[in-house]
Amino acid sequence: MALHFSQKEDTIIALATPQGVGAIAVIRLSGNNAIKLANQVFYGKDLEKQESHTIHFGTIRDEKRVIDEVLVSLFVAPKSFTKENVVEISTHGSSYIINQVIKLLVRKGARPALPGEFTQRAFLNGQFDLAQAEAVADLIHSDSEASHQAAMNQMRGGFSGEIASLRTELIHFASMIELELDFTEEDVEFASRDDLRILVEKLLRVVEQLISSFDLGNVIKNGVPTVIAGKPNAGKSTLLNALLKEEKAIVSDIAGTTRDFIEDEINIGGVIFRFTDTAGIRETTDVLEAMGVSRTHEKMKTASLILYLFDLGDTDMVEISKDINKLENLGIPFLKVANKVDKSNPLFVNELKNSYPDTIFISAGKKENLETLTSRILELVNLDKFRTGNTIVTNIRHYDSLTRTRQSLLDVLTGLDEEVTNDFLAMDIRRSLHFLGEITGEITTDDLLANIFSKFCIGK
Ligand code: GDP
Repeated sequence: MALHFSQKEDTIIALATPQGVGAIAVIRLSGNNAIKLANQVFYGKDLEKQESHTIHFGTIRDEKRVIDEVLVSLFVAPKSFTKENVVEISTHGSSYIINQVIKLLVRKGARPALPGEFTQRAFLNGQFDLAQAEAVADLIHSDSEASHQAAMNQMRGGFSGEIASLRTELIHFASMIELELDFTEEDVEFASRDDLRILVEKLLRVVEQLISSFDLGNVIKNGVPTVIAGKPNAGKSTLLNALLKEEKAIVSDIAGTTRDFIEDEINIGGVIFRFTDTAGIRETTDVLEAMGVSRTHEKMKTASLILYLFDLGDTDMVEISKDINKLENLGIPFLKVANKVDKSNPLFVNELKNSYPDTIFISAGKKENLETLTSRILELVNLDKFRTGNTIVTNIRHYDSLTRTRQSLLDVLTGLDEEVTNDFLAMDIRRSLHFLGEITGEITTDDLLANIFSKFCIGK
């Protein structure tokens, strides 16, 4: 930790807004000397005499040369994001001005910030725990309503509070049991084993619930992997294009033109779906046999949703039924989609609709009935958990620590069942505490922190 203390002495600087020309740019300084340094180049007022949370108009000057007219916002420690003195300088958004201002302040003694260093300081100064700091990065990268919601929940506390309070209770038990170790002769029991069991079981329930939320969390963060399957010419690429609302896939009526997987992200109802069009494997007329080609097969197995598309005008219904049967047996949520209704007799289509209520009839080419398809897609991926605002684990690091916590907690229970000696019990409890602490950051190593924060961008 010594490293962090020495770092805290310096004042860091970075552009907080994106690179490139914009109407305004915000340069941020954080550190004990942030206000003092800004004051050396700001003309208009004495910044060191101003209140926290105030904004000041003036100029930034290098000696006599005016670099820009700016607005300066002041945040006096500890009432700032990093809990240090923070100055935000809003300049005009020219890369020349930005560079000049940053260079000038570096000359005065500021140091260019490392990636994620502002957030790292906020974490080290106790603004939030590690899981919340990671949620800041997720929030910045969130690109759909669902991922935004999950990151926001976590940043505002999420499971951190619950884990922290259960962890505190467990620490109490650990110390009581360790205390008993000092009195082995007397045969005393400071910690009730029944109460310990109740607490561990309570913790296990919380941990299990968080672990099981990860499947959902993962799809929210990375998108729901969805495969469009079907015979050549069923209209898979056309459907993908219609959903994308732009021509990204190559559409052609010559079978075999789509050479590779086409993968694209489509936002449906605030959820990202990663669509793969498996067109392109045309060596055989049996499309499922063709799907035996390993890559397609892999895609199928990792899919969370499969759409099977067929051409209503296709006369080989036997083959299509065979395909459908095989796909249904995969046990992955699955939708049957009949395409090209525009080419078929409407009376015939109506009859089919009555006979096959679970099939969705669309025209990918004419973009007909696509809303029914998208709402059925949303129904199939059960997002109720996310809608009710439950906390969802989206981070693989948390998932990993939670699985280890679960194992150690189970070991504690086994230890209680088998009435193991106190030192073993204490060890298993300490191990559970360790893994729990990894999530919220009570237990960290410099490597872990460096790894987490280096994934942030500079300025965050
Ligand atoms: P894929 O091989 O399954 O990817 O099929 P394509 O998307 O390349 O479509 C094959 C042919 O069917 C193309 O000529 C498309 O224009 C046509 N097609 C696709 N959807 C429809 C539709 O809804 N109606 C009609 N009439 N033609 C369609």
